[in-house]
Amino acid sequence: MQALTNKAQAVNRKPMTFLERLYLINIIKGMMITFSHMFKKQPTIRYPEQKREFSPVFRGLHVLNRDEEGRERCTACGLCAVACPAEAITMEAAERTDGEETLYREEKYAAKYEINMLRCIFCGLCEDACPKDAIYLSETFAPANFTRKGFIYGKSDLLIPNPLTEAGAFAEAKGVEA
Ligand code: SF4
Ligand code: SF4
Repeated sequence: MQALTNKAQAVNRKPMTFLERLYLINIIKGMMITFSHMFKKQPTIRYPEQKREFSPVFRGLHVLNRDEEGRERCTACGLCAVACPAEAITMEAAERTDGEETLYREEKYAAKYEINMLRCIFCGLCEDACPKDAIYLSETFAPANFTRKGFIYGKSDLLIPNPLTEAGAFAEAKGVEA
């Protein structure tokens, strides 16, 4: 049969010598390779105890922002959803009622806000489109999950803690805006 390439090689069927049958030389060679790696700089790190520095342009998990008085900034205008090339954002708007001025900054707010992280390509266009500084991409990963449903982040997952009641958690979540 004609070969397609000239890469075929005849198998060497020469019987092994006594030394070769002991495999000792090959085991020593393998151990020397292992040993030589012990003194090399490790390319891996001990995550999550150790973390690498993010690139200044890294874009991670979204955060729904509050203002300095703890009110939700999002006014459910839908611009982020329109700008999203992956159609990952959905929301439902609601009217603010009397007495809710301390909760929502604008007269309209997002009663429901969801981002499908399996669709998201972390392009940051939603952040650019937002006129209210209500959404930004943080320096956090979306953690692994066993179900698809677990990657649909609702408002409770995305909303930053209230700076008035949870100042520490707010500062930690705020991190460095990407
Ligand atoms: S980062 Fe990009 S893909 Fe992800 S939700 Fe925002 S606009 Fe959509
Ligand atoms: S996050 Fe910004 S762009 Fe998106 S609905 Fe809210 S206010 Fe509008």
